[in-house]
Amino acid sequence: MPVLFVGHGNPMNALLRNDYTRELGRLARLIPRPAAVLCVSAHWMTEGTWVTHMRRPKTIHDFYGFPEELFAIRYPAPGSPETAELVRATAAKYRLELDDDMWGLDHGAWSVLRHMYPAADVPVVQLSVYLGQPPSYHFELGRQLRPLRERGVLILGSGNVVHNLRLMQWDGKPQPYPWALQFDAYVAEKIAARRFDALLADPATMPGGVESVPTPDHWYPLLTALGAADETDRAVFEYEGIDNASVSMRCVSFGLKP
Ligand code: ZN
Repeated sequence: MPVLFVGHGNPMNALLRNDYTRELGRLARLIPRPAAVLCVSAHWMTEGTWVTHMRRPKTIHDFYGFPEELFAIRYPAPGSPETAELVRATAAKYRLELDDDMWGLDHGAWSVLRHMYPAADVPVVQLSVYLGQPPSYHFELGRQLRPLRERGVLILGSGNVVHNLRLMQWDGKPQPYPWALQFDAYVAEKIAARRFDALLADPATMPGGVESVPTPDHWYPLLTALGAADETDRAVFEYEGIDNASVSMRCVSFGLKP
């Protein structure tokens, strides 16, 4: 299986049909049908690393101030306790915790997956972001999870390369902030050059990083995806663009056959 990192951005994308959502659908059609999706979502921040283990994960609407239609969305994909146990066994060194009733599927997962697998017929397991750990942890965790690719598991990081909620602009089509363009381009260049090590530094030391990564929740899922990618995997930027002046929608696939 290839590995994906998807920028999810504004939750409204769950309802929209645009170039970005069409790209998600196209990607899903290019990928062999997964046995399960393992989604590392920016919106599940925990102490310890957790994996959803329930058979029927609930749809979580983890946002406020959006239209009723968005709250009405359910994404009834089944869970997969078997996959969760396989994930835990594969990354045994990290002592992952199994979650039976705390979480479910948050919008980091379902706002993307409903465009990829609209029938909700592929089992989905979520992996949390252990916020207290340094960048190297998130990368190494991905490295440990890499063998899951041979077992038909699609590893999907869902976050945003640039994510500054406080400075988002909601009216019209705002111009991206210069620092957002700068950081997004820097990250793309390091990925293309396979300099993943450069991305394990503190983002605040990278060009535009202070404003682009004010908190690491949307950044760490990228590092886990990079860890799961193999050095020989072809990296392709499947979508790029800056929404709301301060959110990069960059999506990248690793090892997707042309
Ligand atoms: Zn988000």
